Amino acid sequence: MIKDNLCVVMEAITRAAEKVGRRGEDVELVAVTKMVDAARINEAIEAGVRAIGENRVQEAATKYNIVVDGVRWHFIGHLQRNKAKRAAGIFSLIHSLDSISLSQEINRHAVALGKQVEALVEVNISGEETRFGLRPEELIGFLKEASVLKNLRISGLMTMSPFTDEPESSRAYFRELRLLSEEVASHNIENIEMKYLSMGMSQDFETAIEEGANMVRVGTAIFGSRPPA
Ligand SMILES: *Cc1c(COP(=O)(O)O)cnc(C)c1O
Repeated sequence: MIKDNLCVVMEAITRAAEKVGRRGEDVELVAVTKMVDAARINEAIEAGVRAIGENRVQEAATKYNIVVDGVRWHFIGHLQRNKAKRAAGIFSLIHSLDSISLSQEINRHAVALGKQVEALVEVNISGEETRFGLRPEELIGFLKEASVLKNLRISGLMTMSPFTDEPESSRAYFRELRLLSEEVASHNIENIEMKYLSMGMSQDFETAIEEGANMVRVGTAIFGSRPPA
């Protein structure tokens, strides 16, 4: 049941945080609801979920009006520029900035909507070709360029670790993202904050928290396995 699964995940988050001298409340759980129908999303919200993550703009849009209020929508997939307008209207936090042209497009729509859009930069730490995201060495240059976009508020970094059943194998990637965010913070770039580290999924969120994650994206452990894409 969703409620029981959520309880298990929340307890694991608290345990992992306390293991490294942090508090469970300091880690935000984003319940990943891709391919989960609105009724089950509402069940999760009833059980205490406050943030949900979707990876397709179209899918999110179809659920947006059926899902109850009081939840923050996070965009965790790859965002195409022609979907930036719709995304800017739905999502509170976009986890997947990966180019200047996308950043400019989001900013343009944010200006038109008269709002600030908050976003994280996706970094491809593992270097896998199938992954989106900037290479670590591109990050500082990108942020300096993006920092002039006044309706885009960049507030942290996100990464996806390589698929694995073995959480320990993700540790080095998570550590590298944390070190990278500390390096960025030391540059004091105007308009750029390093408040969030979004890393860790069902398989490895505890390891991610131990390495500094304060936002974890968990789907399967809450909703059960999805049909193969
Ligand atoms: C699907 C997805 C997740 C959640 O994966 P689970 O293994 O189901 O927990 C997290 N982050 C991103 C970007 C995803 O696409």
